[in-house]
Amino acid sequence: MPASTDLAAHPLTHWTGPLGLPDFTRIGDGDFATVFDAALKAHEAEIAAIADNSEAPTVANTLAALELSGQALDRVSSIFWCKAGANTNDTLQALEREVSPKMARHFSAISMNEKLFARIDDLYQRREKLGLDAETLRVLEKTWKGFVRSGAKLDAAGKKRLASINEELSSLGTKFGQNVLADERDWALFLDAPDLAGLPDFLKSAMAEAAEMRGQKGRYAVTLSRSIYEPFTTFSERRDLRETAWRAFTMRGQNGGASDNTAVVRDMLALRAEKAKLLGYDSFAALKLDDTMAKTPKAVHGLLDPVWQKAREKAAADQAEMERLAIAAGSNEKFAAWDWRFWQEKLRAEKFAFDEAELKPYLQLDNVIAACFDVATRLFGITFEEKKGIAAWHDDVRTFVVKNADGSERGLFLADHFARPSKRSGAWMSSLQSGYRLGDGAAPVIYNIMNFAKPPAGEAALLSVDEAKTLFHEFGHALHGLLTEVTWPSVSGTSVSRDFVELPSQLYEHWLTVPEVLEKHALHVATGKPMPKALLDKMLAARTFGAGFATVEFTASALVDMAYHARAEAPAEPLRFEAETLAKLEMPDTIAMRHRTPHFGHVFAGDGYSAGYYSYMWSEVLDADAFSAFEETGDAFNPALAKKLKDNIYAAGGSKDPEELYKAFRGKMPTADAMMEKRGLV
Ligand SMILES: [Zn+2]
Repeated sequence: MPASTDLAAHPLTHWTGPLGLPDFTRIGDGDFATVFDAALKAHEAEIAAIADNSEAPTVANTLAALELSGQALDRVSSIFWCKAGANTNDTLQALEREVSPKMARHFSAISMNEKLFARIDDLYQRREKLGLDAETLRVLEKTWKGFVRSGAKLDAAGKKRLASINEELSSLGTKFGQNVLADERDWALFLDAPDLAGLPDFLKSAMAEAAEMRGQKGRYAVTLSRSIYEPFTTFSERRDLRETAWRAFTMRGQNGGASDNTAVVRDMLALRAEKAKLLGYDSFAALKLDDTMAKTPKAVHGLLDPVWQKAREKAAADQAEMERLAIAAGSNEKFAAWDWRFWQEKLRAEKFAFDEAELKPYLQLDNVIAACFDVATRLFGITFEEKKGIAAWHDDVRTFVVKNADGSERGLFLADHFARPSKRSGAWMSSLQSGYRLGDGAAPVIYNIMNFAKPPAGEAALLSVDEAKTLFHEFGHALHGLLTEVTWPSVSGTSVSRDFVELPSQLYEHWLTVPEVLEKHALHVATGKPMPKALLDKMLAARTFGAGFATVEFTASALVDMAYHARAEAPAEPLRFEAETLAKLEMPDTIAMRHRTPHFGHVFAGDGYSAGYYSYMWSEVLDADAFSAFEETGDAFNPALAKKLKDNIYAAGGSKDPEELYKAFRGKMPTADAMMEKRGLV
């Protein structure tokens, strides 16, 4: 065996860098492939040892052994996925395509391991008699359920069928995404200078670049990328062109020919319904919601239905105002879907003449970081101390030691703020190591990745309000990882259900706009003066504008997603079903779904948000309700409430049922009231 695969000594799996980090100076991209192979083998051997153990199953020799297995694989994976996202190159990208299916096969083999499941099942059947604490009992139940949902209880024929359904679903999901991409790539509307009435400069230059990329230098292209389509339909004074673009956008994936998704969707829905039945569930939604906070389609409707009502009322009122504006401007056309964004922008300009650029000089990156830390100190008592000169995956990365109130070390926080070509877009939180107590335990090593524009040397980086919110958002996720106080690795930090995971992050955003936080940290880059309150108020007031439209387009998509999946039998003609569902809902004909079925990537390009698109709004309900708990006390840092928040939300991970956790913090389940108020719907 070459030295590079000695897991006990390799820098990818044996971390000898400063502060217990990997020694990034000794990690080469060429090392990953061999270390992955060795780590996969090592994990297989560990699993076999657990499954083949001749002793009777115990929590220690089965559940704990399983949880603590695969540590070398965890380590190499965490570094690999960090680099693949934040500082990639051709070598890593090629490796990514190899590693993903290998990992999928590896973990699917574990969940299909009959001897291993027999031991878990044995513990599960005796669970009430084992004298387990609540967290261990939950981990045992979750583990058992995970096996069952992967088909562990099916007979050989059932297992085979499930495997082929999963495989078919995965290739259909890929095809779905590629079809949408093909339609988006193949459509463009080429315009010339006289066609550009009303368009702002940033859009004109984006359209010029898009035309040049398509071989039409000197012209302007409307494309179906949201970053061009949305501003075009917002600003173009050419109603005919807005209509053309709108029709193309809403018909993506439904244009006939090779890229048409109609049959793909029909097949996927049928396979999902079959899968649910095979695993003993009433519907695919029942299967997917089983381990969420919402738990049932009924609970999802309990949230969405009242919101739908209010959103339609608000949208209708907005439309009436826009129609008045249009008539006053001399338009005599019937108000249509391709008019909405255009007149909404005119209405916005009339009501809130306001430039977000005024705020930017007050939001210096270093000050916003300080504000994030300051809020965490005031709420949760932890502090952050920067360590300079620590090598990481890129020179821009900053490293902070996180300390408890008594000065003891809690973990590490790494932050990588600036955009570069080797980093994928977006912002995210992840970990190099999650925190837990089982076995020797581990301290959390959490990181945040941002994509802010890097300022010239010597200048301060300035953020937009959205960017500052994003920083708070991802830092909220980071706190979920850093404050974790659980025993079992599988319920550490952000290992919670899809409709609960955005609570710690979205909730944290609220503290950015708490006046005393801004007074202290939002200081003008030139004058050092704090942001005027009037400026902030104007910005906040403008934010709820257009909520009727946004909520209708979102909620329609969430309701159709749920309608498809909450049935035992899949509809034979999905697009007819979509139309019938919308008719029943009394969808306004001047607004389209945010994602129509043939291009609803969240739901069909893979399985991520199928029967789960509602979760975005569910989380928003939670964060609005949770922050209003602080507002009700009149103190955004109320110490008693902050302690409850830490103990039950940020520290608890997935160690308890999310509903139980939320109630322990808030005293009751949330209602949608605070969310609707925040959105300006009531
Ligand atoms: Zn998030």
